[in-house]
Amino acid sequence: MTQTFLLLPGDGIGPEVTREARRVLEIVAPDIEVSEGDFGGMSFDLHGTPLTDDVLARARSSDAILMGAVGGPQWANVPRDKRPEMGLLRLRKELDVYANLRPAFCFPALAEASSLKTHLVEGLDIMIVRELTSGVYFGQPKGIETMANGERRGFDNAQYTTSEIRRVAKVAFEIARGRVGKGGVYGGVVSTEKSNVMDSGLLWREEVTKLHVEEFSDVKLDHILSDALAMLLVKSPKDVNVILADNLFGDILSDEASQLTGSIGMLPSAALGEPGTPGLYEPVHGSAPDIAGQGKANPCAAILSVEMALRWSLDRSDAADRVWKAVDTALTKGARTADLGGSLSTTAMGDAVIAEL
Ligand code: NAD
Repeated sequence: MTQTFLLLPGDGIGPEVTREARRVLEIVAPDIEVSEGDFGGMSFDLHGTPLTDDVLARARSSDAILMGAVGGPQWANVPRDKRPEMGLLRLRKELDVYANLRPAFCFPALAEASSLKTHLVEGLDIMIVRELTSGVYFGQPKGIETMANGERRGFDNAQYTTSEIRRVAKVAFEIARGRVGKGGVYGGVVSTEKSNVMDSGLLWREEVTKLHVEEFSDVKLDHILSDALAMLLVKSPKDVNVILADNLFGDILSDEASQLTGSIGMLPSAALGEPGTPGLYEPVHGSAPDIAGQGKANPCAAILSVEMALRWSLDRSDAADRVWKAVDTALTKGARTADLGGSLSTTAMGDAVIAEL
């Protein structure tokens, strides 16, 4: 059966970087059927909503989806439920993509671009698995209320259920099984929470430990409190292999780890649900309104998001390996956009990668 790939270019630099990603995809997997849909702010402008029912239905029936980026100052005053970001949150929720994979990988040619000393990041290869559809960002009740004494109170609710913890932990353990030999002292899965002060964190630790004993005792498991892990990531990041985190701590720790690798323009991500359901792929960066429309954006994060889609949703690890190697070789030969200290345009960087395919 023909595999289908839905492209949602979105706003700002989204269309520029996904154009290059599409060119790469069409070279390494020409038989895949690619189509495009409106999404984010541009969808709001055209249809009055950031995510139409039609695009959602097409996303559900695709094998993989690549989203560029959404948002920008022109939609700052749009009603909250119609904001571009709401389209993205809804898409993630509707697809139930609960496991967010965020690799923090340092290409050898870019080791000097890191804010840390070169020897700390050379060869860095971490995979962060962040829970994406529950936790404090979604827990009810939440809100802002005025109390009897006139003071206002804002509150959120951090909560997890057994099944929510187990399904994402399973993804992390399975990934660790395929990454034997990576990392140092903590070469298996590092599960992180604040079980010393949060009950949802305590349940997280208990359930991860239980699952480990039941099904994954061959994988090394360590528990590190999130504040301590934040320190470890800047002290000796190469000691870590796979990190398993909830939505809130995973959000913060994955952004911290991404800074170790050089530019935000290099970082892809995947959001996965149950096996057999479509995966949602996106660069970690946003719509970068400051450089949008100028041909300056680095397309590598979008190209590497295609690489992840080929590997995780489309069962084409050979094609994924080709893409990875092409980016690596192009960088080694000196191809650089402005964010990496060079002067190549978005298209020229795409050309440099394609030349290696
Ligand atoms: P941003 O990631 O868009 O930009 C941060 C900085 O990194 C900017 O200086 C930008 O020029 C640079 N940058 C980002 N991507 C780059 C690339 N590929 N190549 C070169 N440089 C790049 O974050 P921001 O400025 O905080 O947010 C801008 C808009 O994007 C906001 O509306 C925000 O809500 C939205 N946003 C969307 C997503 C998403 O769609 N998943 C994620 C983050 C932010």
